[in-house]
Amino acid sequence: MRKALIAGNWKMNKTDPEAIELARALVAEVGQYEACDILLCPPFTSLKSVGDVIRGSKIKLGAQTMHWEKSGAFTGMVCADMLKSLGCTYVIIGHSEQRQFFGETDETVNKRTRAALANGLTPIVCVGEFLEQRESGKHEQIVRDQVIQGLKGLTSDEMKQVAIAYEPVWAIGTGKTASSQDADDMHACIRSTIEKVWNRDVAQGLVIQYGGSVKPDTIDEQMAMPNIDGALVGGAALQADSFARIVRFQ
Ligand code: PGA
Repeated sequence: MRKALIAGNWKMNKTDPEAIELARALVAEVGQYEACDILLCPPFTSLKSVGDVIRGSKIKLGAQTMHWEKSGAFTGMVCADMLKSLGCTYVIIGHSEQRQFFGETDETVNKRTRAALANGLTPIVCVGEFLEQRESGKHEQIVRDQVIQGLKGLTSDEMKQVAIAYEPVWAIGTGKTASSQDADDMHACIRSTIEKVWNRDVAQGLVIQYGGSVKPDTIDEQMAMPNIDGALVGGAALQADSFARIVRFQ
């Protein structure tokens, strides 16, 4: 059985004092909760302080992206070793905002994913279509391609350390969620793609999160779907009470 993974993607929100306050509130609310894996992905500037606050709890720490190089002249970027030294065990890769605003492509997703795995970090590889692509019926093909290109060359053993987040771009931060059935259909499509390219074992073990306007009042129905194994939560992760309610989905 797959253990659910509920992750908060704080994006470019929270000063360091605000991040500490949110992390403290979450430790108080769900710090010892074990029914699912809980992950916080604050901005780089608060990885250290959030890591300090959650130490000793069950909550895990992740970053929002990383560079694939080991070190060097890459102004503005961070590498896997830096993230690990602060206690990160996860890294989000290929978020649609990185793809839209910072030149992320399937090729760079692949480089980052390989680098994360080579360094023992669990990559959460994000995929998802634009609204026009869904309306023109191309969404499954688009997402399948992102999955195949982004994960190209990974061994079955490496694939067992990967999570995927399906985040339809039109649902991110818009208040519109994909219907639970549409999301589950896409997750099933991703899982069967993984089975074809790798194998059934890898496909059945793969955690596939849904992301895009997940809220306390959407999560129960989403998590009841057979192929939805968790959530990547943006807006609703910025308040302790709403994120804690999402973590405690029923
Ligand atoms: P949202 O963001 O929950 O605010 O839609 C999700 C994400 O982009 O990961």
